[in-house]
Amino acid sequence: MTERSAEILFERAKKVMPGGVNSPVRAYKSVGLTPRFIERAQGNRIYDTEGNEYLDYVGSWGPMILGHADPAVIAAVKEKAEKGLSFGACTEAEVELAELITSNIAHVEMIRMVNSGTEAVMSALRLARGYTKKDKIIKFEGCYHGHSDAMLVKAGSGAMTFGDPDSAGVTRGAAEDTLLARYNDLESVETLMKENRDEIACVIVEPTAANMGVVPTAEGFLKGLRELCDRYGALLLFDEVITGFRLAFGGAAEYFGVRPDLVTYGKIIGGGMPVGAYGGSREIMENVSPCGSVYQAGTLSGNPIAMAAGLATLHRLLKEPELYDRINAMGKYLADGLREKCGFTVNQLGSLVCMFYTHDPVTDYQSAASSDTQGFAHVFRELLKRGIYVAPSQFEAMFLNICFTEEELDRTIEIYSEIVAEGR
Ligand SMILES: *Cc1c(COP(=O)(O)O)cnc(C)c1O
Repeated sequence: MTERSAEILFERAKKVMPGGVNSPVRAYKSVGLTPRFIERAQGNRIYDTEGNEYLDYVGSWGPMILGHADPAVIAAVKEKAEKGLSFGACTEAEVELAELITSNIAHVEMIRMVNSGTEAVMSALRLARGYTKKDKIIKFEGCYHGHSDAMLVKAGSGAMTFGDPDSAGVTRGAAEDTLLARYNDLESVETLMKENRDEIACVIVEPTAANMGVVPTAEGFLKGLRELCDRYGALLLFDEVITGFRLAFGGAAEYFGVRPDLVTYGKIIGGGMPVGAYGGSREIMENVSPCGSVYQAGTLSGNPIAMAAGLATLHRLLKEPELYDRINAMGKYLADGLREKCGFTVNQLGSLVCMFYTHDPVTDYQSAASSDTQGFAHVFRELLKRGIYVAPSQFEAMFLNICFTEEELDRTIEIYSEIVAEGR
């Protein structure tokens, strides 16, 4: 072992950081391994401190749709960094990014930049409540919307991975206005709306869930939510932190042709830098301070380096819309191959893919949770040995980026099928 081996670095990390990490799923606890320490990445390859190379299906959990260290993104960041890192004042780059988004996404007439997806959701919920003057929010079991108090109720992602979807430290008060509905079940939403007539500020949904594994919305589900929200006077909030700029430039809203009232972004919008954003119609967004009475602020919000990375990423996606056809076709190719060769349930939408270790359909939280997580953990460990880097949890997506070739997808399918066959 050298001093840069993962074991030694992780020992050091555990002494000074809870679980050795700054975000829980990274700790590899549910797969029983020491996490890899990453040194650098390029395209769809990621390299650890021990010199191992992996095909990367995490892509920083979504942002790296162009692949790692994309030359145009890196150049934009370098150029901006030379001029200073942060001013806490207005810059041209934030106007450019806001213009780029509002001129290409019809339901976003105004946007506010923040620093993470969590912050975007937290702020958008406050806005929904401030605008409607109602308190209650409907969220879906298994959907993850970051770690703000009101959203840590039956949340997906790490909360689900650790079998602890409700966090300690969230007061009853903070969570009591969060009502839970069943994903892909319109009736459960309508029941809540009837029971809480005139009290629902908004319905928040991942318009394709990607934090309980990938669970696409059923045909007509989003349209049904739109109708229910209109009928009962609630806002519809699409949390597009993963799906935004990934399923299409305009995210799931564009992909499915359903217009939300509010939308949250993160991940791709920052091109790998810490950014989040929320947006919607002018009428709603003008309630945000300093225009209106819904307070929200941020010292580093709209940071010039982060805006530069986001701009470079979104410019490329806008300039080459055929990238979406290609990456979405790759998602289907990978999913079809895995399904055929491994025999398990594989869900896919666009460039989001997830194999569940079950043979039953996965359509909601309950069916996702029934997947064999031990089976997943075994396959994960074998994949890592053979140079395939996926998220260390059953309840996450495989994220494709534009750098993948058909040959690499074939190799991945082959390796998966070998591991699954060995396990039988
Ligand atoms: C990642 C994610 C968040 C939280 O974003 P952070 O930047 O991690 O705070 C919120 N919603 C969804 C759908 C996400 O996938």
